[in-house]
Amino acid sequence: MASIRAENLVKRYGAFRAVHGIDFDIADGEFVAILGPSGCGKSSTMRMIAGLESITEGAIYFDGKRANETRARDRNVAMSFESYALYPTITIYENIAFPLRSAAVEAREIDRRVRDVAEKMELTALLDLKPHGLSSGQAQRVGLARALVRKPSVFLLDEPISHLDTRQRYRMRRFIKSLHQEFHYTMIYVTHDQEEALALADRVMVMSDGEIQQMATPDEVYARPRNAFVAGFVGEPPINFVDCRVRRDAAGWAVEFEGHRLLLPERLHRAAERVGDEGLAAIRPHFLSIGENGPMVIEGRVFVTEELQDQNLIFVDIGGTRFTIVAHPSVKPRRGDIVPVAIDPDHLLLFPRSEAKKFEDLAA
Ligand code: ADP
Ligand code: MG
Repeated sequence: MASIRAENLVKRYGAFRAVHGIDFDIADGEFVAILGPSGCGKSSTMRMIAGLESITEGAIYFDGKRANETRARDRNVAMSFESYALYPTITIYENIAFPLRSAAVEAREIDRRVRDVAEKMELTALLDLKPHGLSSGQAQRVGLARALVRKPSVFLLDEPISHLDTRQRYRMRRFIKSLHQEFHYTMIYVTHDQEEALALADRVMVMSDGEIQQMATPDEVYARPRNAFVAGFVGEPPINFVDCRVRRDAAGWAVEFEGHRLLLPERLHRAAERVGDEGLAAIRPHFLSIGENGPMVIEGRVFVTEELQDQNLIFVDIGGTRFTIVAHPSVKPRRGDIVPVAIDPDHLLLFPRSEAKKFEDLAA
């Protein structure tokens, strides 16, 4: 296992800068997800770690030792991509054994390791078969087993399950997480799927436009997003944003929007000071409810309701802003109903309006 550090890491393709000088530390045995929209520089970052792509500027360290000039095969990095090319003419067993045979590992040791990893990946019953006819989930597990059998010091996965159907994805997610919990590999997992990142990782590196927006635990990126981009990218259904004015008077700090005024909890006073007059307030759909209870209640008009059975999504217009509310399945207002919307002030967030632009890019 290894720790990884990046300092001022830059990737340029010709004149185009794909990664803008990022810094990060990944601890030995940590599971980090690199999360961000398509084209934000996730794969470029991972490929520089793997040694598959040259480093334009900056440095990468494995266990504190500079690795820029270390060849890919000498980094002892295993990589699993979305496309896993299995050799069609040999058995699953030989597919998994392949990297060990290439490395001239002794036959008995190969057998022990292949059977061990096959058992972990629930592939034992398939070892004598050829890849033809495997389900995509099974083929993916063989690909992972082949990557893991070498006992890599770092395990990199680039959108490894994004092509699978929903059920297979859930199944593979559990596999990958249990692999980490059992073996404590240093793992870096690239994904554009925020749910996958939150479900799997110890820490999430949220990227956009070649920069790290925040690198923190799932709890932190969800509850204390550093900026509006992170707030908008993490969480499902997406967070609600509303333009607001930030005011201070005798009663204290408040935000005003759509003719309403909400007193800010003390937790947000410093943010209010920092943001200035033009704010962007945000609240997750789970922290809005339909009902009279609580210190912040505002009337809205129901636009549409989606009854998902385990929860209902209610879309409510307050002035010119449409809010998503996650409600109990028993809450079924009708289109046009005027309903009281309660806002949980403990979960209100406040950003500078200037960050709204970044969020619009994301929504577009
Ligand atoms: P992600 O994995 O987040 O989707 P990438 O790291 O693959 O993003 O790409 C980041 C940006 O760099 C994209 O705009 C992409 O088009 C560009 N890019 C990636 N690889 C190359 C390449 N080999 N040559 C030129 N541009 C590239
Ligand atoms: Mg990619």
